[in-house]
Amino acid sequence: MIKLKQYKEIIHKCSKCGLCQESCPVYLENGNECSTARGILVLLRGIINGEVQFRKDINRYLDKCLRCGKCVEVCPSEIPFEDIIFAAKCRYLYCTPKGLFIRILQSAAVKKLFNPAQKVISEKFDTKALYFGGNFKDVLKLLNSNSVELLNPVESGWGMEYLLSGNIIRFRKSLNTAMKLIAELNPKFIITDIPSDKFRGILKNYGGYSPNIDIKYVGEYSGGEKFASRFFNPRYAEKLIKEIKEKVHQ
Ligand code: SF4
Ligand code: SF4
Repeated sequence: MIKLKQYKEIIHKCSKCGLCQESCPVYLENGNECSTARGILVLLRGIINGEVQFRKDINRYLDKCLRCGKCVEVCPSEIPFEDIIFAAKCRYLYCTPKGLFIRILQSAAVKKLFNPAQKVISEKFDTKALYFGGNFKDVLKLLNSNSVELLNPVESGWGMEYLLSGNIIRFRKSLNTAMKLIAELNPKFIITDIPSDKFRGILKNYGGYSPNIDIKYVGEYSGGEKFASRFFNPRYAEKLIKEIKEKVHQ
């Protein structure tokens, strides 16, 4: 588990200047200070010092964060806010009764029972891709109808839901499976539900892995709540296919 208290001194460096507030897309939409990096850091400092209980409404503020990194870009104190959010989510998941309940729901046995992995059946084409995300049927249809084979043996992600909830153990397992698939199947393209630079960063930071493969994505952030990538985005799908075709015909 990544310990929240190891960030105590770093959190203390927040000067409360408010620059993060102006750049936070969640704050710009809901106007709630508790959604900003500054507001969340105040709450986390209280939790670390034992003055504030880690209640589920605080966890909800953490969930609202899009982890877009805009606050990190403007922060004069260079506070690694995305890392701190992850450590806070880990603390919630591993140190509260509600967190235990979420971990049980995310366990491999429960997942298998309620959401068994579906086999991916793809046509055989010369251009091959691996997809990690939650829109398998749509992506499979889109790729096959554009002469691209999907190499995934079964529907699988890279562990985004575990990363977002702070379930570090399940996240590492999913990411390892994804990295093995990439190494074994050597696709021409990797397609994900998050921007390619973010996915590359996750592979590198958490897996120490930098595949020399073109990474594309079919989603985008929505203003407000969570990743819109759960919903297939036709605009990005069109862009994706155009880019793949251009690359293949180069
Ligand atoms: S920009 Fe950085 S230092 Fe300023 S309030 Fe936000 S987190 Fe604190
Ligand atoms: S990472 Fe993005 S959404 Fe989260 S607090 Fe920072 S600016 Fe706001």
